[in-house]
Amino acid sequence: MPASSRQLGLFGDPDATASARACSEPGARFARVALNLPVRTEFTYLVPKALAAGLSSGMRVLVPFSTRREIGVVVGVDTATPIEHGKLKQIVRQLDDEPVVDETLLGLTRWIAEEYLCSWGEALAAVLPSPLKHGREARTVRMVRAGPGAAEALPALEHRREQQFRVLRTLLEIDGAIEIRELCRKLNLGTSPVETLASHGLVAIERVEKDIADLLAGSSDRTRPRELTQEQRDALETIGASLRAGHSAAFLLHGVTGSGKTEVYLNAIERALELGRGAIVLVPEIALTPQTVGWFRSRFGRVALLHSRMTDAQRFAMWRTIRSGEARVVVGARSAIFAPVKDLGVVVVDEEHEPSFKQGSTPRYNARDVALERARRSGAICILGTATPSLESWNAAIEGRLQRLDLKRRVGAGQLPPVRVIDMRVERPVHDSLGLLSRELHGLLDSALQRGEQAILFLNRRGFSPVLWCRECQTPVRCSRCDLSLSWHRRIQRLVCHSCCEEHVLPKKCPNCAKPALRAIGMGSERVEQSVSQCWPQARVRRMDSDTMLRREDYERTLDSFGRGEIDVLVGTQMIAKGLDFPRVTVVGVVAADSGLHLPDFRASERTFQLLAQVAGRAGRGEAPGEIVFQTVVPAHMAIRYAAGHDYASFAQEELALRRELQYPPFARLVRILAEHEQEALAKLAAESAAESLRRALEGTQCAVLGPAPAPLERVRDSWRWHLLVKAADGPEFTQARAAIQRLVEAGTQVALSIDVDPVSLL
Ligand code: ADP
Ligand code: ZN
Repeated sequence: MPASSRQLGLFGDPDATASARACSEPGARFARVALNLPVRTEFTYLVPKALAAGLSSGMRVLVPFSTRREIGVVVGVDTATPIEHGKLKQIVRQLDDEPVVDETLLGLTRWIAEEYLCSWGEALAAVLPSPLKHGREARTVRMVRAGPGAAEALPALEHRREQQFRVLRTLLEIDGAIEIRELCRKLNLGTSPVETLASHGLVAIERVEKDIADLLAGSSDRTRPRELTQEQRDALETIGASLRAGHSAAFLLHGVTGSGKTEVYLNAIERALELGRGAIVLVPEIALTPQTVGWFRSRFGRVALLHSRMTDAQRFAMWRTIRSGEARVVVGARSAIFAPVKDLGVVVVDEEHEPSFKQGSTPRYNARDVALERARRSGAICILGTATPSLESWNAAIEGRLQRLDLKRRVGAGQLPPVRVIDMRVERPVHDSLGLLSRELHGLLDSALQRGEQAILFLNRRGFSPVLWCRECQTPVRCSRCDLSLSWHRRIQRLVCHSCCEEHVLPKKCPNCAKPALRAIGMGSERVEQSVSQCWPQARVRRMDSDTMLRREDYERTLDSFGRGEIDVLVGTQMIAKGLDFPRVTVVGVVAADSGLHLPDFRASERTFQLLAQVAGRAGRGEAPGEIVFQTVVPAHMAIRYAAGHDYASFAQEELALRRELQYPPFARLVRILAEHEQEALAKLAAESAAESLRRALEGTQCAVLGPAPAPLERVRDSWRWHLLVKAADGPEFTQARAAIQRLVEAGTQVALSIDVDPVSLL
């Protein structure tokens, strides 16, 4: 075993302290070590004689660094070094007997470091399972549930112990226990309110050991289709030929919703396994349901699963199962792209356009792009699958960097249903529906419910109303810590900041002008839920958003009961847009199709198109034909028009023309540089001086420095945010831009800058 728990647990005393004398002797070895620090260089250490023969790249070592010790990964062993020997420290201990990172992953992480401007050690840290980074292996998770007397104690906490109040209120809503980590992430709180509540006996905390066996459960009733469609066969023909040829190739599988893309993945993987090669399948975290995993398990038996809700111990156990070759197929979220699969033959990225493949902290990689690179380096094939390709991938297909495979038709009789676009500027909504539902949508829902069919209503906004508006001074009520309007959440009777999660009670008067003229305006998913219940009191309505689906189990349970027909109308945010396959859904209504269009982001149209096309894809998947309604106040907007026509190609053509004109991605690459500080002046100054020095460094090149400017979300949690963008054509120009940014960061700045290469969000 590469890393036994003995080795993991014991980093005790060094057996040898640095002794510089040894290195003048012939046969001395020097190890270059990458440390998980934001310092973009590797460090050279002297290899003790006793280790010299056995140490190689990809092994972990314990080394002295400043006044402490760090675990690092050896990235090279040399017989000479330009560094003066007297200055070298010695490796304290070798932690592995064989490499834990293979050559391909070493190369890949180096590429990530260069591509995304981080250190090699930071990139390696994304690859190693946590116990190998810290020497600790948490086997248990802490679960918490409301204790006896919690309900009675709740009112006393309100307004006095606000954080404890929110914790207890949430726990009382949950039927059962929740992992503390998950709860605190949801509420954006530290763990201390939970611990205080526990010390008062109001909540019960228990440690639960999670076994790897839990992860191997999950099956599926989905059977192998008797026959592939002609389009599926054609796609597999091309993929199969590349696989047999044994060189790397990259495909864009553009298949409309319900065209059977999964079956193409399954068959491609099957062929890779026959050739003795392994596979990685990336899916968005939210789509990582037992249903999805079941499809792969029922075909391949042992399938390793990797996602963020596993304990360190579980992830590590999975890692070992993969590494030993016991599991040849890995299904997982973003970070599964680093799974140590040997002889990788196929990498699949399902829903490749999803922004969630981008990591939000260092290293800020996009798993889709890493997938392409890893496949290239492994001689594997990469399949990017989606109904709505990112414009980056679509353009890559046009330019021939990706090979396009089309699935234009739905499997079986299912047709892509027609979409009716309702102009809400002229429409008078049905009275009962709180002004939300057009007569058209109301009528469709009404008859679907009468026929005993199911419906989905989509609105990508949580809460009851997104804005509490003062009619007197014409301003919204804002979060005191963020530059954001507070949303009214009626069920909990609180105003909530969707950025920092803080809650406020409803003020009687406007905090700005002190007049009692506040009014909740606009609509959120809570309001849609209420309006449906009001219109059809007998209907079984369920809301699915991150307020109601606190735990993974809640999400899965709700989908299950929707599948069993125990829910008539599912109301939700983007959580319900993803890959759901429910044949009894005949009506899909988008309550406000334009809600994302006003975002100050050049991808607003693209995101809107993708979301609408995905939501529309949920209807008519069974025998009964489907009906789709988009309600909007901008019916002529191209994103809405093309989504209504199920016309991705025309959308892409028009949007690409615009991007080309503006020289935005995919025709240029962007780096976003963000400066955040509690003092506005410092954030601004940092951004200004970064912009100035980059302008100077890039003078005479084709690279553009845009800004600085306040970020669209100007303040978050008391931090002021200023940003700038560097824009350059891919290729030598972009390399120049990146080098200039690299030098800027290395020179050191007063305010730490976050550097985001190929950002997916500019907020
Ligand atoms: P997509 O991911 O393209 O939206 P799925 O892969 O979920 O579509 O497939 C949609 C449905 O069609 C699934 O229920 C699947 O079992 C079924 N299916 C796929 N291929 C075939 C086939 N060749 N014959 C019959 N049913 C199929
Ligand atoms: Zn806030």
